[in-house]
Amino acid sequence: MKLHLSVLFCLLSAAATALTAQSPPTTAIKAGRLIDPATGTATNNQVILVQAGKITAIGPNLPIPQGAEVIDLSKLTVLPGLVDAHNHLALTYKDVPENNIYYLTYVLDSTPLRAIQAVSNGIQMLSSGFTIVRDMGNNGNYADTALRVGIEQGWVPGPTVINSGIIIGSMGGQFSPTPEMAKDHNIVYPEYLDADTPDEIVKAVRQNMLFGAKVIKICADCKPWGYSVEDIKLVVHEAAKAGFKVEAHCQTVDGARRAIDAGVWSIAHDSGMTEENHRLMAQKGVWRAGTETPISLAGHTTKERYDRTVKMLRNAHDLKVPLTFSTDADYWVKGKTRGQVAIEFIETWKAAGIPAPEILRAMTTNGYRVSETETVRGPVKVGLAADLIAVEGNPLESIDALRRVSFVMKDGMVFKRDGVVTPEQFFNPGPVNGWRIR
Ligand SMILES: [Zn+2]
Repeated sequence: MKLHLSVLFCLLSAAATALTAQSPPTTAIKAGRLIDPATGTATNNQVILVQAGKITAIGPNLPIPQGAEVIDLSKLTVLPGLVDAHNHLALTYKDVPENNIYYLTYVLDSTPLRAIQAVSNGIQMLSSGFTIVRDMGNNGNYADTALRVGIEQGWVPGPTVINSGIIIGSMGGQFSPTPEMAKDHNIVYPEYLDADTPDEIVKAVRQNMLFGAKVIKICADCKPWGYSVEDIKLVVHEAAKAGFKVEAHCQTVDGARRAIDAGVWSIAHDSGMTEENHRLMAQKGVWRAGTETPISLAGHTTKERYDRTVKMLRNAHDLKVPLTFSTDADYWVKGKTRGQVAIEFIETWKAAGIPAPEILRAMTTNGYRVSETETVRGPVKVGLAADLIAVEGNPLESIDALRRVSFVMKDGMVFKRDGVVTPEQFFNPGPVNGWRIR
């Protein structure tokens, strides 16, 4: 069959029009400077094209498609979103009324109230540029899962949440309950899942996976009896069946050593960190979520503790332990949002003498890796989720530039522009991204 050339052109152009009509709108971001934290380098005058929540093209002076919405960040530095590898969005203990004792917060604040706090804390984190938060327990009765699913479905804005469900520990967790409250009222639950025997350990891991956790968190040594290497290996083995990783809260040198020997993915807190444990962690590639509280958050650390924290962070850095930026933020500091509390932790990293590009790498590249999102979310790459932030100045030169995040895009939607939160696109009256995303 012969087809006249003009007819063919006509058909092709009609097809192209139909395709354009169907394809989602494009956003073009003009980035004055674009940072790649993985290499610690920057390029100037880049254009990032975004369609359907994903990055579709990046390049210098790319042609901007007709009809695209242009976001002009040509006077700013654009970089991928930040990661807090250890936060507690559904826990906010306070000076009044509970004297900063979260044992009491848990009695006074219901899980539904804490879920609402979690939404608010998530928004505050996102406003400070944290697009991923690993949420590591102490979240009432799975308020962390509700938060994660609520964000994923599209009800509310928030960071991508990698949540642990309830912390699994041997009897008592981090509490010291009275016999009657523990035995007659089961008061340790739902802050901790008591799991002492192998059967209980397996069941606890499965419970968390069933109720929407994405990572497993254990208390390795919250009590002198703690977990043995064999116990922790069992946790790691059971979690691995669903492809889950395990973070161990460790507060003693021996506890951290047992966790390292058992092959955990990450270790939370730095009190069990020694040069010897650092060497082993570097050798085995165990992530360090040191939760290095800065002295500038008055009342949340002591001079003595802080000095040790700084010294050991430096030691971990020198020994090439895989480092993440983590805060353990679970309290209220008057005058600061949860995001501002989290960003304050750069003070400890600066005090440890860690160069800005490496602090930034811990807050981004390493964060995506510990969260296991790096193939779908995090790096500014074609095909990945469009999670971007922008700041004045250059964080590769001064990490303090991150204190003033003026632009935030999450999944291709603008959350903050010119320093003002504009979250309208994120609020929906139904699960627009699908029902009950696991
Ligand atoms: Zn914690």
